[in-house]
Amino acid sequence: MLDFAIPAMQQRHLIKHLLIGTLALGTSTLATAQSEKEEKLPSPSATEDWSFKPPLVTPGETSAQPPSDAIILYSGSSDLDKWEHADGSPVKWKADGDALTIFPKATDIRTKQKFGNMQLHLEWRTPDPSEDKDFNRGNSGVLIMGLYELQIYESWNYSTKIYYNGQAGSVYKQHAPLVNAARKPQTWQTYDVIFEAPVFRADKTVEKPAYMTVLHNNVLILNHVELKGPMVYQGYPKYKYHDAKLPLQLQEHGSRVSFRNIWIREL
Ligand code: MG
Repeated sequence: MLDFAIPAMQQRHLIKHLLIGTLALGTSTLATAQSEKEEKLPSPSATEDWSFKPPLVTPGETSAQPPSDAIILYSGSSDLDKWEHADGSPVKWKADGDALTIFPKATDIRTKQKFGNMQLHLEWRTPDPSEDKDFNRGNSGVLIMGLYELQIYESWNYSTKIYYNGQAGSVYKQHAPLVNAARKPQTWQTYDVIFEAPVFRADKTVEKPAYMTVLHNNVLILNHVELKGPMVYQGYPKYKYHDAKLPLQLQEHGSRVSFRNIWIREL
């Protein structure tokens, strides 16, 4: 029986998994030794954290000029050639003025240059909330090394409901932000990120995990948090060996989120 105190998104997951569970019962006698060996993934709701609601904080006004030693990744359409889609094709997102706006279904973009430890600055703006479905408002993300997601989402004043480790400023499904410092929709917001890449031993096991520190609109929201592994929507994150430097990736999730003033300092 469904308790209506359960948020809508969890209800949807619950219904989905009840249906899947019913179907699975009907075919259980056909289960083979091979399927038993396959990893059983927990429900996506197993990694949703609703335990602590980050307090609301109103950020001050902000502006950020890149420092002299920054690598400029996006300041206008002339920087489009620094980016590509995963298949190596030219960027199909829309450049307008100094902003770059996601073109839905055009897939993620990534830098041609690869990065490991970094200081990263970028600015992002969510679209008019009425153009997105409620569970996908302003959904995008900064995938550092293409793997570790700092979430972008429409989280101003908790106007769009999502588990706290899925709101703006979360390390998606790993860490909720300390506070909610989000600005209103259609307003530019900033992320300033210090990222320490994971270190792997010669035998490819983890010597040191990745760490992330993030300021959202100049407010500290993640303080040197340890990452459990690459972002996964379903199941629990775990590290897998990868190169010391990988492209920076911006997520396309169907919402027309814009970006501007993206720069990086290698550490
Ligand atoms: Mg996202």
